[in-house]
Amino acid sequence: MTPVIKKLLITVCLLTPGIVSSQSADNFFKVTHVAGNVHMLEAPDTDGNIGVFSGPDGVLLIDDRYDRDTENLLTAVRSISDAEIRFVVNTHVHPDHIGGNNNLAAYGVTILAHDDVRVRMLTELRIPRRGGITFPQPPAGALPVITYSDAISFHLNGEEVRVFIAPPAHTDGDSFVHFRGSDVMHLGDVFRTNMYPIIDVYNGGSFLGMIAAMELAIELAGPDTKVIPGHGSGVSNREGMQEVLALLYDIRERISALVAQGLTLEQTIAAAPLAIHDARWGQVPSWTAADFVPIVYEELRALGN
Ligand SMILES: [Zn+2]
Repeated sequence: MTPVIKKLLITVCLLTPGIVSSQSADNFFKVTHVAGNVHMLEAPDTDGNIGVFSGPDGVLLIDDRYDRDTENLLTAVRSISDAEIRFVVNTHVHPDHIGGNNNLAAYGVTILAHDDVRVRMLTELRIPRRGGITFPQPPAGALPVITYSDAISFHLNGEEVRVFIAPPAHTDGDSFVHFRGSDVMHLGDVFRTNMYPIIDVYNGGSFLGMIAAMELAIELAGPDTKVIPGHGSGVSNREGMQEVLALLYDIRERISALVAQGLTLEQTIAAAPLAIHDARWGQVPSWTAADFVPIVYEELRALGN
């Protein structure tokens, strides 16, 4: 099938509800209008929130969750816009953000990501959750066909969408997306509203980089800016980012103090330095203070040496 035919097919699918999926009645994704040309798609697990930028020039998606979610994704996009899906930007390499690439690329959608994301997609992926789990190498069709080292801009639907590399934070290939006209940001997994930040040290993540990245995002935001978190329910804003940054500052201070006292990692864990935050941020079983504290401790201790 030629790309043109595939492109036509996806257009037909998007215009014809019956073709899309028997799951269309499930309303798998919650669709929220964020502001201007931007919507947010939120799945029941609140992982891998998708940004949908749409208008007469076409649709740009920010992330595409898992392979199994593509039909539901197309249904949700169609509820927003009948325009052609032209681009997907992957905010980073994790499977809940790139899993739909292969399906969408087969429809002729162009995949973009930071250089490092493509490099990491050329092999299997190990991430630190649950003590280290491995995902298989994605299919060749999932690979970004356009990559950037610093930034790239889209000029679509009457506004500029700026995509740029953040300081190494969640990974070393985290992109921020700034919809300037709509006054919306999608920060990928650098910003999550439901749990402690995940620092993926297997893929270049950094706790101090996370602080720098959040400082940058807050600096770019205005009082009315809406923010799509990578994980967590609902649209956030500058106050939401400031809450996370305050959390990060407090964690840095608490664990730095223990490092400065010469405590070992075991002693630091035993001191439960994040106990005061656990009720709000430590309730997702796959990423608790037990996962997070060692990573912060090791980074801060290395800094002192
Ligand atoms: Zn992630």
